[in-house]
Amino acid sequence: MSKVKYYYDSETLSYKKIEQKKGRRLGIALLSITGSFLAGFILLIIYLNIPQIETPKEKALKRELQNMKLQYGLLNKKMDQIQDVMANIEDRDNNIYRLYFEANPIPEEQRKAGFGGINRYKDLEGFDNSKLITETTKRLDILTKRLVVQSKSLDEIAELAREKGELLSAIPAIQPVNNEDLSRIASGYGVRTDPFTKARKFHYGMDFTAPRGTPVYATGDGRVARADSRSTGYGNHIRIDHGYGYTSLYAHLYKYNVRRGRRVKRGDVIGFVGNTGRSEAPHLHYEIFKDGKRINPINFYYGNLSPEEFGEVLDKAQRENQSLD
Ligand SMILES: [Zn+2]
Repeated sequence: MSKVKYYYDSETLSYKKIEQKKGRRLGIALLSITGSFLAGFILLIIYLNIPQIETPKEKALKRELQNMKLQYGLLNKKMDQIQDVMANIEDRDNNIYRLYFEANPIPEEQRKAGFGGINRYKDLEGFDNSKLITETTKRLDILTKRLVVQSKSLDEIAELAREKGELLSAIPAIQPVNNEDLSRIASGYGVRTDPFTKARKFHYGMDFTAPRGTPVYATGDGRVARADSRSTGYGNHIRIDHGYGYTSLYAHLYKYNVRRGRRVKRGDVIGFVGNTGRSEAPHLHYEIFKDGKRINPINFYYGNLSPEEFGEVLDKAQRENQSLD
């Protein structure tokens, strides 16, 4: 509170108040405000120019942050390596495995697709190192997705390989009797002379001459569909259902080694050569059906013949002669 000051007026012989001028008071106020600002500004300049004195905690945090950045850098380098390995596997998957099993290659966009829609990285935003962390996380997410796609593809390949393996072991692919010197092929598929009527007739199978009791082999994996003599002409015969539309038939048997319903593997002895049914001499009459139609068995001996041997078999089977039926 400012003191009230007086002066003595000699004319009126009394004390009077000294009135301070308003303008001067304002000037003083302005001067003090400017002064304060100036002082503050100078202090700020000094503060900014003096090297910061860090507390031990700040120092530790700073070191930790630097280490974290270093570690993120190393992580990214490791991810580079993993990405290279991954790209190599994907390439082999598309161009070898999937190609081999006739599956469509998986397009690049599908393999490397990120995650669309909502921002999955919102929680990582708003920090000094947000970009580094977000980018690293994104890379890891994409890599994870590529792994999932690849893993599914391999499952598919494994399934296709299993099916292909099953198909290959099911299809009739060997000769039904031991025929090392290829001397047992007596008659092939095509028009032949009937041994009984001597008429020209279509012979729907292949005849293998062999002594009675010679083992007869299943020519592919399958299930015995029939083992009986209730079909005219065939005598004791066996039919094996191989699946995939294939059936093989073995006729004029002397004896059976299997019963209906038995599962057999390629090469299993299923019966023995005989002379039952409409047969002129002991031999095996062999037929292959595809989707119920009889087809030429000659195309199914690739399992255990060299190209030269196959040529010889073809030659013998095509010879126009009399079948043994
Ligand atoms: Zn025949």
